[in-house]
Amino acid sequence: MAQAKARLAGKPEAYKNYIDGRWVEPAGGAMIESRNPADTREVVGRFPASSAKDVEAALDAAREAYPRWKATPAPRRAEILYRVGQLLVERKEQFAVDMTREMGKVLKESRGDVQEAIDMTFYTAGEGRRLHGYTTPSELPDKFAMCVRQPVGRCALITPWNFPMAIPSWKLMPALICGNTVAIKPAEDTPLSTLNLVRTCEEAGLPPGVLNLVMGTGEEVGAALTAHRDVNLVSFTGSTQVGRAVAESAARHGKTCSLEMGGKNVILVMEDADLGLAAEGAVWGAFGTTGQRCTASSRLVVHKKVYKKFVAKLTERARALRVGGGLDPRVEVGPVINEEAVAKIMGYVEIGRKEDRATLHLGGRRLKKGEHKHGHFIEPTIFTDVASGMRIAREEIFGPVVSVIPCRDLDEAVEIGNGVEYGLSSAIYTRDVNRAFKAMEQMYTGIFYVNSSTIGAEVHLPFGGTKATGNGHREGAMVSSLDIFSEWKAIYVDYSGKLQKAQIDTASPVG
Ligand code: NAD
Repeated sequence: MAQAKARLAGKPEAYKNYIDGRWVEPAGGAMIESRNPADTREVVGRFPASSAKDVEAALDAAREAYPRWKATPAPRRAEILYRVGQLLVERKEQFAVDMTREMGKVLKESRGDVQEAIDMTFYTAGEGRRLHGYTTPSELPDKFAMCVRQPVGRCALITPWNFPMAIPSWKLMPALICGNTVAIKPAEDTPLSTLNLVRTCEEAGLPPGVLNLVMGTGEEVGAALTAHRDVNLVSFTGSTQVGRAVAESAARHGKTCSLEMGGKNVILVMEDADLGLAAEGAVWGAFGTTGQRCTASSRLVVHKKVYKKFVAKLTERARALRVGGGLDPRVEVGPVINEEAVAKIMGYVEIGRKEDRATLHLGGRRLKKGEHKHGHFIEPTIFTDVASGMRIAREEIFGPVVSVIPCRDLDEAVEIGNGVEYGLSSAIYTRDVNRAFKAMEQMYTGIFYVNSSTIGAEVHLPFGGTKATGNGHREGAMVSSLDIFSEWKAIYVDYSGKLQKAQIDTASPVG
């Protein structure tokens, strides 16, 4: 309480962009105030509302720094990353508190977010000694054929607010280890966590210009990045709607583009499932991070034989969840990110109420009294008897709202599961190994879980989704990340010392 009062009384810090190794004010001088979503009286800080001019300066620096960074041996780049990882470990607690203040998620989840950045950083640092290419036999004698990875050039990284350190690290670390230079733009609501990561890279000895931080809005900074002549690759995580606009702009300007976008993830609960375990997983998947995960379990497709029993267990557990400020260790569900999110989520609750058949079974209200008075709090909300075609069962709500849909058998469950435009994560609860494998094969999602919820990625496995969730790339797992942030160069070495006639006769007609 005393700490909270002190934070309310203090003067908010004004932060700066990081360009060419210096902390600089935005060219236009405009700032955006970031407020604590659990108590909007607290200003977390004032952050640059940058313009195209700042993007220009960041890309100038990234272009200048590129040849030196590209020429730095990858094991040396890795040593800097390793130091970043060590510093992140030392600062984990402070960075987690900063994250909860700006983003709202409960402290243990913020610690997990910082830990994910630590894991990604150490994991990627190990890759500095492995950036493998390959050799392969040539068609001709006295000739050697091989492939090496080359950096792409200048990368623009655009990130969302829900994992404000983990997601930047998923992009930044592989971009750096491959020898690229970077301009990063965090979401307007959560710049501090990304700034903490960038500051750590600076302190670890990353040379000036290799990493540049430009804060501001998507319309101004994000759009300028996707159109900038010096950007070779845009790596974006966020909503499908914005991702498609980013892809259009990147395509128009001839850039490679990697997209990680929205989700409408599903848990299938079969009649032989351990219902206690399934309810526990569903609660964590649906209401963890207040439902604001791209992998949130927003649909539960439950076999009708166990439907009532499962809903009773789910309701009992969800009703007991404590909603409040994420710094309070007793709290399990924090606020949603901002007022716009409250309006969107409450709008969906209204839609759900009006859609025929669905029953608002639990929650559905905004909390406005007592400890919730100054924040963006919404009760964990369960809709039952939902039909798969309803909007609440098809569209990404991105809040603490879950739809429980009955099904007859596994085939119908899979059909419902796949019947949305997204394809990020899915899960099945069953004790039958045949069903588990069948669902694994038939669910068209990038991630699949057995007897575990739809959330909880590990950095050494590929992360991403199908359909409207992505455009075929995967982050995490080194091979997939390296495939985003490096390009292949094929190398032919002819040591015969003569023009080999066979080369002309047998050469492939292509190239
Ligand atoms: P958002 O799409 O609103 O914003 C994402 C980023 O894009 C922000 O930095 C924003 O400023 C920027 N942006 C906005 N307009 C832009 C433009 N015209 N040009 C360039 N950049 C622009 O998403 P959000 O609200 O920050 O995040 C929530 C969404 O992110 C959800 O849909 C969620 O599912 C998705 N998400 C996906 C993953 C994944 O890996 N698939 C992970 C986390 C979040």
